[in-house]
Amino acid sequence: MQEHDVIIIGGGPGGLSTALHLVRDFPDFLPRILILEKAHYPRPKLCAGGLVIDAEIILQRLGLDVSEVPHVDADNIHFDFEARGLKISIPHRHALRVIRRDEFDNWLAGKAKGRGIEIREGVKVKKITPEADNVRIETDQETFCARVVVGADGSNGVTRRSVFPNALVHTARALEVLTPTTPKAIGSGRRREGAYFDFFPVHTNIAGYVWNFPTQLHGEPMRCWGIYDTNMLANEKRPQLKAPLASEMARFGYNLEDYEIKGHPIRWFSPQNQMSVPRVLLVGDAAGADPFLGEGISIALGYGALAALEIGEAFQQNEFSFNGYRNRVLRSALGQVLIARWFIAHVVYPLKWKWFQILVWRILKPIVVLIAWIFVLNWGKRMPSTP
Ligand SMILES: Cc1cc2nc3c(=O)[nH]c(=O)nc-3n(C[C@H](O)[C@H](O)[C@H](O)COP(=O)(O)OP(=O)(O)OC[C@H]3O[C@@H](n4cnc5c(N)ncnc54)[C@H](O)[C@@H]3O)c2cc1C
Repeated sequence: MQEHDVIIIGGGPGGLSTALHLVRDFPDFLPRILILEKAHYPRPKLCAGGLVIDAEIILQRLGLDVSEVPHVDADNIHFDFEARGLKISIPHRHALRVIRRDEFDNWLAGKAKGRGIEIREGVKVKKITPEADNVRIETDQETFCARVVVGADGSNGVTRRSVFPNALVHTARALEVLTPTTPKAIGSGRRREGAYFDFFPVHTNIAGYVWNFPTQLHGEPMRCWGIYDTNMLANEKRPQLKAPLASEMARFGYNLEDYEIKGHPIRWFSPQNQMSVPRVLLVGDAAGADPFLGEGISIALGYGALAALEIGEAFQQNEFSFNGYRNRVLRSALGQVLIARWFIAHVVYPLKWKWFQILVWRILKPIVVLIAWIFVLNWGKRMPSTP
């Protein structure tokens, strides 16, 4: 049985960020970390790839420049109700950078490997069993043993299911479609650079929005469309997601039926979510993504910074209960933004009447922009940088 100090299960943004922060903050961990990733990079990951400013800040603080990854920048973000609403732009920079996840995760994994972090690809973890002095990790190949395990294996991850088999899980649904860009889709002039969120499906019991981002595939300009539903308003009969997505695409001259639709769940954050047991921590979607927008890349990168501090201190004190991890997350800038977004989701979605949505997105614009600036964005620079 192979023994390690820290085994990270999953090499997406959450797992890679945890490893990169650990070796930055506690360099002697370098030979003591192993990442187990079930796929081989570059591997597909269903995601619209929108990176908010906080993702870039966290990466910069790790000495990484995400502009090395192929990307398309959106100059502004529109939050609309039925195609009209408010526009957010950030002076002298893009509002949203859009990457493809196969390229981004491959790049980030390459940076981790470049810093000497060992990643074992093609190893699927089957079961995690915390024991008194270590954690047993059974995979489709061999069994590993670690003093600490980080569950960074996403929304459907085996780590969370192994350590919290009966926990209540809040899961959103998301569908995504990629289309070529046509003149009708991109409009003219600056509209081409916009990323759009439209909350028109809310009054039909879909607690979410339809999105439309610029993106690229192998250098060709494309549009990424999708629909997100927290399931907060769903009773036993969940509303169909395809119809509102089809109607949004039809507005731009696309027929949804002509394209491949893919879906994936997103596990979202609630202040009650459990995040650790002795010797095991969760990060990223395994711990909980943003409930309001389903944004999870910057969030996963942020969890990594906090998990690294928690692990470094645990080894220094030889105390692995991780009792304080959830509080560390909730008290951090990341936790505060997650709580704020959880609260916003619980206000904006249940108050689903048209007049309320029009009030929020079209009439209360300055207040909403201020709330977004304070509570939704700009948390990355308030994260701890080094211990
Ligand atoms: C349709 C859709 C659109 C989205 N759009 C956006 C967006 O525009 N912007 C944004 O910020 N977020 C977006 N998200 C959310 C974002 O994709 C996730 O929040 C983010 O990927 C979470 O990162 P993570 O590292 O926690 O998990 P993941 O990215 O899911 O990584 C988990 C890793 O673990 C590996 N793994 C899983 N199980 C095992 C196992 N048993 N053994 C070994 N390895 C395993 C997987 O292969 C994967 O590499 C979107 C999600 C969806 C579904």
